Amino acid sequence: MADCLFCRIVAGEIPATIVKRSEDAVAFRDIDARAPTHVLVIPMAHVAAVRDARGREGEQLLGRLLQFAAEVATELGLDAGGYRIVTNTGKDAGQSVDHLHFHVLGGRKLGWPPG
Ligand code: 5GP
Ligand code: ZN
Repeated sequence: MADCLFCRIVAGEIPATIVKRSEDAVAFRDIDARAPTHVLVIPMAHVAAVRDARGREGEQLLGRLLQFAAEVATELGLDAGGYRIVTNTGKDAGQSVDHLHFHVLGGRKLGWPPG
């Protein structure tokens, strides 16, 4: 999608600090990190939110994205201390970019529940 911020990052039109790529996903540093490690994992194809990843294809995409996020966490050294993977969906959750993304947060004690 031409006017989607994360599609533009995928296309290389907007710079980002990429930490890992797969066939269909990219992980990059969040520009406004809320933890010592804060990475976003996104599908390269535009999907607005987790609720839009439907059917068998969506099921497989979500599985791959979560596995990929866990690999990113391992590679960034988060396994020992632990980490959180979270996806905000819609207004009440504060989703600010309408391209599906999993936040991978770690490197400090994380509060629960999130605010
Ligand atoms: P949301 O609020 O939708 O759950 O998460 C969107 C995230 O994207 C936020 O944590 C925000 O800091 C991050 N973000 C917004 N614009 C950019 C950008 O241009 N580059 C990067 N790397 N992250 C961004
Ligand atoms: Zn997009």
